[in-house]
Amino acid sequence: MIGRHTIKKISPLQAIVFTGTISLFIIIAGTAGFLVTQQNLLDAVKKKQTCYLDLLDFRGKLVEFELSRNSQQSLHIATEELSIKDEQRAEALFVMYEKLLTEMHEAGLKPFTSKQLTRESWPTMSTAQNLELFRLDLEKGIEKAKIESKNASVKLVVINEFFLFFILAVLLTLSIVAGWMLHNNYRQTLIPLAQLAGQLKLINSNIPESIHDTAEEMKKDLTETEYSSDITQVTQSIMSFCGDIEAKNKKLDELHIRDEKTNLYNYRHFKEHLIVEVERSKRQGEKVSLAMIDIDYFKRYNDANGHIAGDRALKALADIISTQCRAYDVPSRFGGEEFAILFPKTDTGTSLEIAERLRKLISAEPFQHEKNQSGGELTVSIGIATFPADATDWHNLINNADRALYRAKSNGRDNVVTFTSMNSENCKPG
Ligand code: GH3
Ligand code: MG
Ligand code: MG
Repeated sequence: MIGRHTIKKISPLQAIVFTGTISLFIIIAGTAGFLVTQQNLLDAVKKKQTCYLDLLDFRGKLVEFELSRNSQQSLHIATEELSIKDEQRAEALFVMYEKLLTEMHEAGLKPFTSKQLTRESWPTMSTAQNLELFRLDLEKGIEKAKIESKNASVKLVVINEFFLFFILAVLLTLSIVAGWMLHNNYRQTLIPLAQLAGQLKLINSNIPESIHDTAEEMKKDLTETEYSSDITQVTQSIMSFCGDIEAKNKKLDELHIRDEKTNLYNYRHFKEHLIVEVERSKRQGEKVSLAMIDIDYFKRYNDANGHIAGDRALKALADIISTQCRAYDVPSRFGGEEFAILFPKTDTGTSLEIAERLRKLISAEPFQHEKNQSGGELTVSIGIATFPADATDWHNLINNADRALYRAKSNGRDNVVTFTSMNSENCKPG
């Protein structure tokens, strides 16, 4: 329903822009996060690998040192007395060891579990037995560094694969959402728009009787499709436009069928209805009566009071005529100071009753300046004829109602005469 759609909804275009922005933000944030993590992992891999290689190097140097010392021991048999060359080697080893400790710390590797070496403990540590223990510890460290370095590399590969998967997932989701939105846009905007355009084209090429009914049909057609807020707005604008046109058309119709001075129906409208009712009477056998009304001595009224006052009297009289007519009667201004009332589906008796009542009301109505009239009152004479008894067609019906009116005038005015009574020589009813 239109009402349901009046709630402010975001348009498909706004939804697409909104989703696009969110997706872009997710991609940028995800990429930035990935780059930082990747860099950290790369650093960790590098550090661990460097540490591993340095540990291997250190082990090599240590083996060299041991070999050299063993050869000296076999010559001098004095382990504590290191040659100057060995001291230099031991010093170099110690420097390497310290560097290794820093590297291991930075790479997040646990330092050796055996007693930590210091410059002071180095000579005692470097005894064969201690060195053996230290070497075992070193082997463990190397193994650990190797495993951790490998793990860090694996982590790097995993994170790369995860990022690739993340980007693919976002792109896939985006494609699905965009496809869905485009589909909705097509269904809720483009299809109704094409429908609207088609209907407007039809209206344009063939302006319908009731533009309001056409607008209602358009609304009904469109209600069958779920449509976007943009289309709702367009439809509502068209509906209100049609409503305006309809109201203006009604006004124009009224102007077209009403007499300006009296607001009764005009002669054109009266004649159209008269012809239709006579034709209907011919087909269906129902009676149609016509009353012709003429104001008595109206020329005198105008002469005495002026045409403006005469017009006011005309309007007041027309208002009385209107109030006495039924909804389906056609009270009209025939021309000048003459009126005609068409009584569809009405016989002479009923129309005579209405006409008599009307004549009496007008006679009793205190019109302005009517005292100047002969008899001191503004009165009307009325002639009535009924189809098919009194006439053969609509022309004839008017003529015979007129003849009855003239008889009413010649009878002394302010009276009603039926054509039927004229024929039976019973000329003075009421
Ligand atoms: P009768 O009783 O025989 O009908 O006498 P009457 O004076 O009414 O008839 P007559 O045909 O001599 O005059 C009709 C008058 O109606 C003349 C004219 O001034 C007046 N009249 C016709 N149309 C209008 C109108 O629109 N406004 C005004 N004020 N007077 C009108
Ligand atoms: Mg007249
Ligand atoms: Mg007159």
